[in-house]
Amino acid sequence: MQGMLVIISGPSGSGKGTVVKRLDPSHGYALSVSVTTRAPRAGEREGVDYFFRTEDEFTRMRQHNELLEHAVYVGNYYGTPRQYVEEMIAKGKVVVLEIEVVGALQVKEKFPEAVLVFLMPPTISELARRLQCRNTEDRLTIEDRLRRAREEIALIPRYQYLVVNDEISEAVGRINAIVEAERLRPQRCADEIEFFSGN
Ligand code: 5GP
Repeated sequence: MQGMLVIISGPSGSGKGTVVKRLDPSHGYALSVSVTTRAPRAGEREGVDYFFRTEDEFTRMRQHNELLEHAVYVGNYYGTPRQYVEEMIAKGKVVVLEIEVVGALQVKEKFPEAVLVFLMPPTISELARRLQCRNTEDRLTIEDRLRRAREEIALIPRYQYLVVNDEISEAVGRINAIVEAERLRPQRCADEIEFFSGN
């Protein structure tokens, strides 16, 4: 089976992280770990949640073309390590990037066949509530993240799918269904087509 790139974006507090961690491994998912200059939150682990780097280190990675995409989000840099993504796609995996919209659109330019999924909480007030309950950001950062959420929502029409995350297991089910259907597109089934053509 051919590898594939799935990008999951959505406002901070939409539940992307939780949904992504629950994706069905039988679909051959490979979860990319991003690089960031943001300070680790309590409980976050190096190499599991993020690769935490200084701005200098981040700039060096960017200059050495080690990042597939990068963006600034509320004062910090974030980027996707290129090598892991390329290796996993070559192995036929469904590579999942949980990234914000600017980076997502950069990836779509480079990989037009990438599938872009936007995950939304049921309402903006629910989004604010989730951010406040999370208790990981101060008030100003929460306001910045809510402002950024409105900008991101304006870009939903650039995505192929919109999934509302009112119930986590249902959102996960919908993303699994999207991947299953996308994998059946003839453009992604070169081997099968060759087989049926008797070549
Ligand atoms: P957080 O600080 O809450 O972990 O992430 C902030 C935002 O950055 C989220 O929207 C998250 O999806 C996004 N993000 C995480 N990693 C990357 C990345 O590698 N590239 C881009 N462009 N955005 C990322």
